[in-house]
Amino acid sequence: MHARRGTRQIVIGNARTGLVRIGGGLPDSSGNATTPAPISVQTMTSGYTYDIDACVAEINKLHQAGADIVRVAVPEKKDTDALHEILKQTTVPIVADVHFHFKRALEAVEAGVHKIRLNPGNIQDRDQVNAVIDACKAAKIPIRIGVNEGSIIERKDKQKRMKELGAVFGEHKQGYLLAIMIAKLEEYLDIFYERDFYDVAISAKSMDAAFVIDAYTEISKRFDHPLHLGVTHAGPKETGAIRSVVGLGALMANGIGDTIRISYANDPIYEVQDGLELLWSLGLRERIGVDLIACPTCGRIQVDLFTLIQDVRKALAEKITVPMKVAVMGCIVNGPGEAEGADVAVFAGDRRGIIYVQGEKVANVTEEEILDRLLAECMTFQDKVRRGMAKLGEKKVEIIPPDPIGELGSGYEKIAAGGVEKIKGVASLTVGGV
Ligand code: SF4
Repeated sequence: MHARRGTRQIVIGNARTGLVRIGGGLPDSSGNATTPAPISVQTMTSGYTYDIDACVAEINKLHQAGADIVRVAVPEKKDTDALHEILKQTTVPIVADVHFHFKRALEAVEAGVHKIRLNPGNIQDRDQVNAVIDACKAAKIPIRIGVNEGSIIERKDKQKRMKELGAVFGEHKQGYLLAIMIAKLEEYLDIFYERDFYDVAISAKSMDAAFVIDAYTEISKRFDHPLHLGVTHAGPKETGAIRSVVGLGALMANGIGDTIRISYANDPIYEVQDGLELLWSLGLRERIGVDLIACPTCGRIQVDLFTLIQDVRKALAEKITVPMKVAVMGCIVNGPGEAEGADVAVFAGDRRGIIYVQGEKVANVTEEEILDRLLAECMTFQDKVRRGMAKLGEKKVEIIPPDPIGELGSGYEKIAAGGVEKIKGVASLTVGGV
C-alpha cells in the first residue's frame, strides 16, 4: 500500500448533514495544512427525484447503509423543485447531477444542494458555465467535473467528432483517449480558474477498468484536485463487482482516490455495501460491524457450511456494530490457521461445532445449535468490548491438536486413514500454517 496522494481538500454538507471532507494533504487557500480525509463512499438514487417521498426514502435507506454522499439526477425543473423538500427530509450531503441544462444547476444551488456534478462539455455556452461557477462560488459549494469516456467526444462538430472517434478506436486507443481526457480537463479547469474557483473534484470514468487505472494515475500526476473514482457502467453486480474492485482497488492501493462510487445496474444499496467493503478490505476505513472469515469448504466438510455462513452473516449484520472478527470454519484441519486473529470462531466437525472466544473454548454444540450459540457469544463479547472488559483482536485463536480433533471426530479421519503418525504429522503441519 502506498501513502495517500496529497490534494486540495473540498468540503461538502452543512451543520444539518455534517461535513464530509474529500481529499486533503495540501495547504488550503489560506495556507493552513490539511490532512487527507477518509475516502468517502458515494452512490446515486435510481428513482425519479421529483417523486419526493420515494426519493427521500431511497436517500435515507442509502444513508442508513453507510453512504457518505448521495447524488440525484435533476433532468427537469420538477426535479430541482423537489430538492427543496428532499433537503429538508434528509441528513446526508446531496449532489445534484446536471447535464445539458445549466438552469438545473442554478435551480439546484438555489434549493440549497451541497455540490454540483457538471460536465462542462455538455453545456456549450461559456456564459452558462460561468453562471454555474459563479452561483456555486457564492453558495460556497464545490463542483465535480467529469470527463467520462462517453461524454468527452465532440458531438456537434462532425469533423472533429470523427477525428476524436478515430483516435478512440485507433491503434493507440489508450494513449490517444487519455490525451483527449487530459486536454479536456485542462480546458475545463482553466474556465474555473479564470473565475477564481478551485473547489473542484475530478472524475475520469470509463467502463474499461484497465483504462480507469491508467487515466486516474496520469491525472493524479498532473492535477492536485481530489479524485472521484469510478468504473462507469460496470454492469450487473455479478460481473460489475470484479470490474469495479480491480480498477478502484488498484488505484487506492497506490494512494490514488479520495471518494468512490461503484456503479451497478442494480439497487444502489449494493454500491454502498461493496464500496464500504472495498475500503475496509484495504484498511482505508475503520470497519463497522463484523469482519466475517469463512472457509471455502472442501471434501472434509461435515456440516452445511454454506447455509450456516449465510445465516451467520445476516444475523450478525443486524446485531453487531463493533469491528469484531468472526471465523466460521468447516473443520479443525485448516480452521485454526485461517482464523488466526478472530475474536469469535467456530470450527465445525461431525455435525457439531466447537466455539472459541479469543482462544478460549466456550462450547461444543450440535450443528442445529451453532447459529444461536455463536450469535449469543458474539453479543456477549460485544457487550464486554463496549464495557471495556475485553479488547478486539487481543488474542489469537490457538487450538492445540489432537484434543479438539478427537472431540469433534471431524473430517480429519479422512486424512488420518494412514495411521497415528500421519495424524500427528498433518495436524502439526496444518496448525503451523499450511
Ligand atoms: S477449514 Fe476444513 S473444511 Fe474448510 S476448506 Fe479448510 S480444510 Fe476444508
